[in-house]
Amino acid sequence: MDYQAIDACPNDHILYYNQYEFATECPICHSSRYRTDQVTKKVSRKVLRYIPIIPRLQRLFRCKNIAQFMDYHARNRSGDDILRMPADGSAFRNIEEKWPQFKEEPRNARLSLAADGVNPFRELRSTCSVWPVFVINHNIPPWMSIKREHIMLSMIVPGIICTLEQCFFNALVFNLS
Ligand SMILES: [Zn+2]
Repeated sequence: MDYQAIDACPNDHILYYNQYEFATECPICHSSRYRTDQVTKKVSRKVLRYIPIIPRLQRLFRCKNIAQFMDYHARNRSGDDILRMPADGSAFRNIEEKWPQFKEEPRNARLSLAADGVNPFRELRSTCSVWPVFVINHNIPPWMSIKREHIMLSMIVPGIICTLEQCFFNALVFNLS
């Protein structure tokens, strides 16, 4: 699976894509995009690794065994006010009330994000050094959606202290819309 490397402000303000693609400093904190101790070549100070979601969603619909479950949430709601899966919750209802056109097609992908800091190499006694962001597919049954093969890694955000600012999620939403 290929990924895109997108430069980011070291203080997590912006990503250098779209209107900032060719900028050399952050318009908010004015910190340099590139390391200043490197003279011969440009080395980015912070790089977000983004793994595109769309090809993986398309692959779900190509696989017959999974595609048949992509409208599971619409066919199996409780209807008795008991929360048995995310589709029974108020968050799902709010989204469907706000975007009724999205609700009309039950196979539209209902996704959620999960992120947490980890320290893969246990260096410097820091509590975390990267922040993986996972996408969870809620169209399929709950017992499938939490299996490792159905949880999609969408981003790897570097940083010991990362506030996971809106700009990182904008990159994901921009690619999904
Ligand atoms: Zn900045």
